[in-house]
Amino acid sequence: MSKIQKNINKLGLLERLEKGPVLCAEGYLFELERRGYLKAGAFVPEVVLDYPDAVRELHREFLRCGSDVMEAFTYYAHREKLRTIGREDELEPMNRQALRIAREVAAEGNALGAGNICNTWVYDPENKEESGKAVRAMYEEQVRWAVEEGADFIIAETISYLGEALIALEVIKAFKLPAVIMFATTRSLTQSKDGYEWIEACKVLEAAGADVVGFNCQAGPDTLMPLLKKLRKAVKCYTAALPVPYHTTKEHFAMWNLQYKNKNAFPTALDPLLCTRDEMASFAKDAKELGINFIGICCGAGPHHVRAMAEALGRTVPASKYSPDMSQHGHYGSKKVVKKHEDTIIVGKKRKVVKDR
Ligand SMILES: [Zn+2]
Repeated sequence: MSKIQKNINKLGLLERLEKGPVLCAEGYLFELERRGYLKAGAFVPEVVLDYPDAVRELHREFLRCGSDVMEAFTYYAHREKLRTIGREDELEPMNRQALRIAREVAAEGNALGAGNICNTWVYDPENKEESGKAVRAMYEEQVRWAVEEGADFIIAETISYLGEALIALEVIKAFKLPAVIMFATTRSLTQSKDGYEWIEACKVLEAAGADVVGFNCQAGPDTLMPLLKKLRKAVKCYTAALPVPYHTTKEHFAMWNLQYKNKNAFPTALDPLLCTRDEMASFAKDAKELGINFIGICCGAGPHHVRAMAEALGRTVPASKYSPDMSQHGHYGSKKVVKKHEDTIIVGKKRKVVKDR
């Protein structure tokens, strides 16, 4: 029997989804890279073992800003990726530590603790049998650790093959936990890497018992919305949408090939393409109105996005105490404190009167 004491009064994922949208902040990888705790490139969550307090802090920030889910930072903490950086022997401690941190912080605010598995870089549709076995083994050990560490449900994310997603679903269901399965539209907005129309692939997952199906990562909110409209009509189960907060375009529909000043912006020059918190709030509102159930944000997310999304869903969260109130501002506020002669700006050597404040 598990040593983990679960809070029996806490509502589970499916009970919460029944009541209304569940908000889920992702993006730990990008944010901890920006903060200097993780290397862009391999993108392995070494920070979990090297600086656990940094992970704990980011969980708390997302919790204060309204995320209902503390997702264990085990993205790419799988055998294949840890082999790449020569830390394969730390696979289990890294997973267990990430799961414990997520669960501990979740308990501070009645959030859910989720286990996480993702694309493996091992699945090969030309060699389904053999590669599928390797994928299954990787998922089985990660999901087993998640169950042992008391995860409330499992998120399988950023998967681009239906075949790989089905293995993830089978493994999660074998452990009897709710399964959120999300595809990443990395190479195509219309079909998976193994050639299935995205909507068809989601229907296959629904029929195979997925509790929540949808999309995360790579596509920005405007790019993802048309696909979400089709998805909502096509399936009866709960649906998920966690775009990246970047201005992806028709031509560059995934963040990995976004351009800035005619150069590839991924991953270190994406900043000027970042969506504002207001844009992400609009997305959350639109997704809710569309009937999307598991709403969130992926790589590039900051706590300010998450708070704005939570508030757009009609909530007041702990960090709402410090939500913007420009009525208190010297220039913009209702209690203006700026004297008339100060209403000027200097451009070059010229002093200009500012009329439109
Ligand atoms: Zn992402």
